[in-house]
Formats: sequence, C-alpha cells, structure tokens
Amino acid sequence: MDPRQVAEHLRFYQEIGITGISAEAQWRAREGKPGGQARPTIWTLQSIREDIGDCTRCKLATLGRKQVVFGVGHPSAELMFVGEAPGADEDDQGVPFVGRAGQLLTKMIEAMGFARGDVYIANVVKCRPPENRNPEPDEIGSCEPFLFRQIETIKPKVIVALGAFAAKTLLHSQDPISKLRGHVHDYHGAKLIPTFHPSFLLRSPGQKKYAWEDLKKALALMDREPPVSAGSGPDA
Ligand code: SF4
Repeated sequence: MDPRQVAEHLRFYQEIGITGISAEAQWRAREGKPGGQARPTIWTLQSIREDIGDCTRCKLATLGRKQVVFGVGHPSAELMFVGEAPGADEDDQGVPFVGRAGQLLTKMIEAMGFARGDVYIANVVKCRPPENRNPEPDEIGSCEPFLFRQIETIKPKVIVALGAFAAKTLLHSQDPISKLRGHVHDYHGAKLIPTFHPSFLLRSPGQKKYAWEDLKKALALMDREPPVSAGSGPDA
C-alpha cells in the first residue's frame, strides 16, 4: 500500500475514533463471513448516507447536480463495483448506473451469476460533474472518504473498478487502464480488479471479451465460476 493510502486509512480510522489497529487478520473479519468473527458495527450505510446529507463539501454541490447519488445494492455484498461519477440519468434518478451503461453493467453482473441486488454499486464521486467532465482532485479529496466508509462497512471481497478514471483514482496510479487491468490489486482489505467502463464497452464492443476475462478473474477470487449460461460473456 502506498504512503497516501496508508495516510488515508489512518485518517479514516481517526475520524471514526479508532486509536489502535491490530495486525491480526481477524481484526477485519466480518460477522457472518466464513471464518469471520463478530465485531461491533461502526458505520451503517444509512449512517454514512445521513452524514453526507445534502452535501456541500465540494463545489460539485453548486455546479448543477440535482441530488447526491449515494450507492445501491446489498449492504454486505461480496462484490462491489465502483465507477467514476453519476451521469445525467443517475443524477435524475438518484441511483448509480441506470442509463445505457448501467444496463450493460446489469448484464455483466447477471453473466457472473449474480442479480443486481446481490452486489453493491457506487461511484468515487457522488455528485454529477457538469458536462460529464472528470471529477477534479479537490472534489475527489472531499468525496472519496465516503467511498472508503462504504467499503469499510460493506467489506466486499472483490471490488471491480469500472474504467480508467476509477481505477487510477482508487489505486493512485497514473498507469493507463490497459496496464492496470489484467492484474489483481490490494485495496483497503479487498482485492481490486480494474476493467473497462461499460460506456467504453458500448463504444468498443470488441473489448467486451477482455472485460469478461476480468470478471471471471473476480469470480475466481470469490471461489466461484461463471454459470454455464454465461457462455463467453454478456452480449459477446
Ligand atoms: S461530490 Fe461528494 S463531497 Fe462533493 S458535494 Fe457531492 S457528496 Fe459532497
């Protein structure tokens, strides 16, 4: 883990009042997970959402967003998808990945043998940037701690980073997505797999086979195999 991630981790623990960290793997174990051990719940998704409120912590609050798009899915999902930021459809509905790209993401999830409600879907930044521009560093700095809390609460085994922006932001890397994908990265106690953003896959359907390779890798990390009906992936 690079020094920035360590610093962010420590800042997060400080924020939630933890003053010491055990080196034991069980410290992070989740109640109800195989081999897991009960520990007090520090955050719930609802309490994180309440903490965000009608957030004005960064300038995206004043640049035309309709609402905060928090995240959706199973509160203790094994598998989590993280994208960049809400677009117009998401801003309208208050739910991440509901437009055309979202429909493809749903197909990808179903090809893996899950229903959309089995996984958790969120973005690095919770408000729509104007003209769908990339979020800026100060906006990411203000919003990313909420994503960390979501991850700490959900404790997914595997996080799939959707697209170059999410992968590079989460991994604090300048490497292109073509270099980041194909590898398993450690991230906040989970395994992180970068893959292509569904919007990119809509524009470049020939790349779907590579995304499917990434999703099969994610399944293997959860000791799962794709259902036979998945064939060679969604819409392949
Ligand atoms: S992007 Fe995040 S930090 Fe900025 S206003 Fe929205 S919720 Fe708050």
